[in-house]
Amino acid sequence: MQEKVRNLIIIGSGPAGLTAAIYASRAMLEPLVVAGRTPGGQLMITSEVENFPGFPESILGPDLMVKMREQATRFGTDFLDDDVTSVDFGRRPLEVNVGDRKFLTKSVIVATGASAMWLGIESEKKLMGRGVSGCATCDGAFFRNMPIAVVGGGDSAMEEALFLTRFASHVTVIHRRDELRASPIMARKAKENSKISFIWDSVVEEIVGEKNVEGVVIKNLKSGEKSTLGVKGVFVAIGHKPNTEIFRGQLPLDEKGYIKLSGGSRTEIEGVFASGDVHDHRYRQAITAAGWGCVSALDAQKYLEEADA
Ligand code: NAP
Repeated sequence: MQEKVRNLIIIGSGPAGLTAAIYASRAMLEPLVVAGRTPGGQLMITSEVENFPGFPESILGPDLMVKMREQATRFGTDFLDDDVTSVDFGRRPLEVNVGDRKFLTKSVIVATGASAMWLGIESEKKLMGRGVSGCATCDGAFFRNMPIAVVGGGDSAMEEALFLTRFASHVTVIHRRDELRASPIMARKAKENSKISFIWDSVVEEIVGEKNVEGVVIKNLKSGEKSTLGVKGVFVAIGHKPNTEIFRGQLPLDEKGYIKLSGGSRTEIEGVFASGDVHDHRYRQAITAAGWGCVSALDAQKYLEEADA
């Protein structure tokens, strides 16, 4: 089935996609948001959001996303809760395919975000949001004076560990090798912090606890020895993966798969913009993603005005 040529299609419905939709719909662009089969992005698996301005009593992640969607709907955004299966940015109008539905559009904002990588063990799933977290900035404050474990050896793990020392009684970093991947400055800061200790060459085999996290079972990869560490929180910081598989060969990506920008939110492909965690692996906050959503809507609006002029 083929539809009319749209002004703008936004792919993704996290804070970046929905903020782009609010701006673009207010600018009368009548955008279509292809929101995905599980709309709302990473905030849908966050509990309380205490750092999004405007909610002094905090707000639940899913509630915030519902409000953003209502706001975008109010100004005339169309939604399709399905996944984009392929795109063709080599032709004009641009083509966005959702299964066998083909959408044509003058411009596209890619806001498909990134997904945190997880350990992939059963107990991690079970205790998600009940002591297992992927975001210290979001959830650290719930662990005042409690022992916490951070899994990973990169900059994110060090950043999370350092941030968590503000709240935790102690932070144990569990890393699968005996050498950190983190940059020397971050590694040094973490090693010099008296509230942080390291368990090397080890992986988390199980997270223990019925209702909430009570500890982790750790296996030393060199000796095979297993031990249990009592902690109330487990922060998994083993990297993020940008959701860019469908854009491979269509948009320039960096070596980790993030979309490369070429000024503002523009990509190398005319009329295609990117916003939020799909290109920004540095800040990765709801509010920065929302900010990028605004940038990309303004960029798209300007592009469409100039293209029509
Ligand atoms: P990363 O650099 O890819 O590090 C991921 C870490 O997790 C590595 O130490 C890796 O171990 C470990 N890991 C991966 N899979 C694992 C698994 N299944 N089980 C156990 N451990 C696992 O990711 P990142 O730390 O999120 O950083 C991503 C990028 O953002 C980097 O370029 C980083 O420099 C940047 N960043 C910068 C800052 C900053 O400058 N302030 C802050 C955050 C992130 P191995 O080391 O053995 O591979």
